[in-house]
Amino acid sequence: MTPKSVCVYCASSQQARPEFLRAAHALGGEIAARGWTTVYGGGRSGLMGALADGALVGGGQVRGIIPEFMKALEWAHGGVSFLETVPDMHTRKRRMVECADAIVALPGGCGTLEELLEAITWKRLGIHGKPIVIANLAGFYDALVRQLAVCIEERMMHERHASMWSVVTRIEDVIPAILQAPAWGDDAIQFAKV
Ligand code: AMP
Repeated sequence: MTPKSVCVYCASSQQARPEFLRAAHALGGEIAARGWTTVYGGGRSGLMGALADGALVGGGQVRGIIPEFMKALEWAHGGVSFLETVPDMHTRKRRMVECADAIVALPGGCGTLEELLEAITWKRLGIHGKPIVIANLAGFYDALVRQLAVCIEERMMHERHASMWSVVTRIEDVIPAILQAPAWGDDAIQFAKV
């Protein structure tokens, strides 16, 4: 299935290195160029803001999903196409996955890591079967990718579970990885529940 919307998890930090901010901006532009909607956490700072700006400059639609308390703190991006306000973080994360056909993780902090790992966990449980792409820019996710391999080596997951996610090292490889992601269908979900 060709996606119509892509959920991107990424850093809120303004202190991230410029190449990561540029990468987020570029990914927003690439999603827009496909005519797809960018779904993200609705913030205006850091990679989150750069992603949304890149998509908007590219003429794309952007859906930001932000908890009420963050909006009250004026953390929301003022220019997105749709800003969905939700009561809490758990609703936000559920809505971000619901609203997207594919999921991408750019570099980020603990919030991004949590979102990515939750998306992988939910896929393993059959809650969704959407492509998940880890953008391992400049080796940012080397340690996490290694840890996921350790989980498989130690039989916390089956090696088949590694097909739930793809790892790319360049921003231009993100969309091809979405399009080439192996299907995670009913057979895989049944397997995952065993
Ligand atoms: P992190 O990767 O730790 O920067 O977290 C990114 C995620 O944390 C976002 O998706 C939000 O859940 C939340 N977050 C933290 N700070 C902000 C902010 N200033 N604006 C919007 N979301 C934020």
